[in-house]
Amino acid sequence: MDVNTKNIAIVIHGGAGNFKKENQTSSENVAYESALKEAVEAGYSHLEKGGTSIEAVEIAIKLLEDCPLFNAGRGSVFNSAGIVEMDASIMDGKTLDAGAVAGVQLVKNPISLSRVIMDQSDYILLNHEGALEFAKKYNLPLESEEYFKTELRYKKYLKAKKNDKAGLDHDEKMGTVGAVAFDKSGNIAAGTSTGGLNYKKYGRIGDSALIGAGTYANNKTCGISCTGLGEYFIKTSAAHQVSSLILYKGLTLDKAMHSVLFEEIKVLGGRGGMIGIDKVGNIAIDKTTTGMYYAHKSASTPLKIHISD
Ligand code: ASP
Repeated sequence: MDVNTKNIAIVIHGGAGNFKKENQTSSENVAYESALKEAVEAGYSHLEKGGTSIEAVEIAIKLLEDCPLFNAGRGSVFNSAGIVEMDASIMDGKTLDAGAVAGVQLVKNPISLSRVIMDQSDYILLNHEGALEFAKKYNLPLESEEYFKTELRYKKYLKAKKNDKAGLDHDEKMGTVGAVAFDKSGNIAAGTSTGGLNYKKYGRIGDSALIGAGTYANNKTCGISCTGLGEYFIKTSAAHQVSSLILYKGLTLDKAMHSVLFEEIKVLGGRGGMIGIDKVGNIAIDKTTTGMYYAHKSASTPLKIHISD
């Protein structure tokens, strides 16, 4: 398909994990579905109006960051010091420009900060106080510590603290968010945002802040956003590896994703999922877990919302 055929597309995720739809209450399922729908529709309608894929990615992720259901922005988990430290990244597949933040506090929308770093600086990744300072310089909205202290996440923090054990929730909902979009000009963009792992070590940075690990976009191949145990996605350069398998081995997007998730990450003992769009606008999703919140819509495929198998 020619890139000018207006096959606009967007796919978003709200984290993977070994959870099942039937183990959640129906009101929980409705809440997740409507949050995913709102975010994917907002991104899609922006693309329909001729907006860019970078803008659509930021729009969708901001809505997910503002929703306390997901482990990003407002609903972020706490680290071992009882602090919310967030990671995010965004990448433009046309130029390979990228921006990212690691361990940032108090910033309402770390994805927007990533975008400002991409657009307004010569750098790609800023961390901790330096990232916060940059957000202040560009007048990005900040919130109080109270805003990020959601009851559900705080309970999970206290539980993990009692066992002194970092990692996933007991129900294994990782909750990170991400988006990949394909616009009318055939440009791909990808972004990811997270609070990281519950009770992670103070200062720990995961794959979501790292271009090539949790996020990657290249118009020659695909855009990718990952979710899962970040250390495994870093070890395998997961998102970039999908792109390389397409570029150098001629694999399709879904085969490339499957290979990285199952032949690399799973073999090492890791788990998680990925969403992506290839250079002609085809959407792909894969995961090693039973559950993954995701939604997608394109000019050739209707809205789909998924919680678990
Ligand atoms: N990948 C994220 C991290 O390790 C967590 C997640 O996807 O839920 O920080």
